[in-house]
Amino acid sequence: MTRDVTVRDVGPRDGLQLVKAVVPTQVKLDWIAADRGAGLPEVEVCSFVPAKVIPQFADAIEVATEAAGIGGLIASALTPNLKGAEIGFKTGIQKINYVMSVSETHNQSNVRRTREESLEGFKAIIALRDAEYPGVSIGIGLATALGCTFEGRVPEAESLKWLGKVLEAGADEVALPDTVGYAHPAQVRSIFAKAADICGDVPLWSHFHDTRGLGIANALAALEAGCTRFDASLAGLGGCPFAPGATGNIALEDLVFLLEAEGLKTGIDIAALAKPRAIVEAALADEPKHGHVLQAGLPKGFVPSSAIAAE
Ligand code: ZN
Repeated sequence: MTRDVTVRDVGPRDGLQLVKAVVPTQVKLDWIAADRGAGLPEVEVCSFVPAKVIPQFADAIEVATEAAGIGGLIASALTPNLKGAEIGFKTGIQKINYVMSVSETHNQSNVRRTREESLEGFKAIIALRDAEYPGVSIGIGLATALGCTFEGRVPEAESLKWLGKVLEAGADEVALPDTVGYAHPAQVRSIFAKAADICGDVPLWSHFHDTRGLGIANALAALEAGCTRFDASLAGLGGCPFAPGATGNIALEDLVFLLEAEGLKTGIDIAALAKPRAIVEAALADEPKHGHVLQAGLPKGFVPSSAIAAE
């Protein structure tokens, strides 16, 4: 089917990185498969980081290898360095997302490198892809592009400067994540409109955390500014190890409801999201779960605006 907007579940990566209970590999794979069953076109399935850093991802190779084989799914994985990318490439995964921070202090805390060193690392990954893994897409997330717990406000011009640098380096896709949930709609409208211009044909992703309750409002602001790609996590799981108090990503269920109500085709069956949600609820009984739509149910007689327009 044709899709107007793309929604990616980053729950198996962003959602799980702070969760202490290690989720069994098969449960992760059932979750990812159930996402695909509900129509999700893309899932970020793991992070290639050493198990001693984040034990949750000790099974990253197995998860990525299996997820890469799920029909019709784009499986992506996060990596902060070339070593992680080398491991990722060998799994056959379709997309590698590199991460660096616009804020120097956050980058040092997160990956113990300067931003320039991180940029060089990104170029090395692209060079390796070009030489040996030509089919793999290389994205990059500019963490703290919308605010930083160490440095506070991150100037828009600084984020756009780094956006220009990573595009010049050859990024296939770029994300401007609100890593710590500082963003508000006016800020999002402004930066996403400019970023969309700078990106041209290069896909631009949004990634909002709902730390201060503005996540869904920010997603709508990004949409209005021309963004058509959205990260979210099932049940609103997620956080950042270096963002004290950071809560989860926006709840995927609520985001899909918003987008469909706006008349946009996501390709996702909201009701069918109950299946991966049930898997997550069973596996993470002690973790806080969010998302209003699946708890309250869809409004009686809800029909996506796109379907009404077609009547
Ligand atoms: Zn995040």
